[in-house]
Amino acid sequence: MIAVALMALVTSVPANALLSSADLSSNRLGTLSPTADQVLAASGGQSEVVSRDGYGSDAAPPSVVWPVAKHTVSDGFGYRVSPCSGCSTMHQGTDFTGGYGADIVAIADGTVKTVIEQSGGLGVHVIIEHQIDGEMYTSIYGHMQFGSVGVVEGQTVKAGDFVGLLGNTGDSTGPHLHFELHPGGGAAVDAFKWLTANVS
Ligand SMILES: [Zn+2]
Repeated sequence: MIAVALMALVTSVPANALLSSADLSSNRLGTLSPTADQVLAASGGQSEVVSRDGYGSDAAPPSVVWPVAKHTVSDGFGYRVSPCSGCSTMHQGTDFTGGYGADIVAIADGTVKTVIEQSGGLGVHVIIEHQIDGEMYTSIYGHMQFGSVGVVEGQTVKAGDFVGLLGNTGDSTGPHLHFELHPGGGAAVDAFKWLTANVS
């Protein structure tokens, strides 16, 4: 909720709120290098301010984001030597390392289907259903920290909304996010490859 409130605050502050009137008049003289189109639209010299306000509120938000902003991939999708007794040999997901306690976020707008806090398997994990470009996808976020999940079943989320903290719960050999992506609710696909192609 705090993040939402802050975002609302940031996006509701007029673009010129931190500029003095001198700044604004210098803007009018072209310090922001407006394009020819912007100059043509500037009937009263205020168009730069108006258009920057419009950018803040009307720009399309990113539709797909990485589940961990700063990450490296420690294990990719596909067959592997099982790294632990409960671990799979066919790895359905992509393992992202990003530091214990890193924020994990929803990759796209969607609805939270499942929140499970358990000791085995995927440990503390969340399943979210999305409609992306008209197709249904299910995303799974595993091994998060106990008590860190910030969503509840049935909740609507936006791309980038906080899901939980990167952890080491369940059958996990070190702190990481196990992330799976299932188009149409069916078999998993290579999530890293898909995200690389679709993150905006
Ligand atoms: Zn994994």
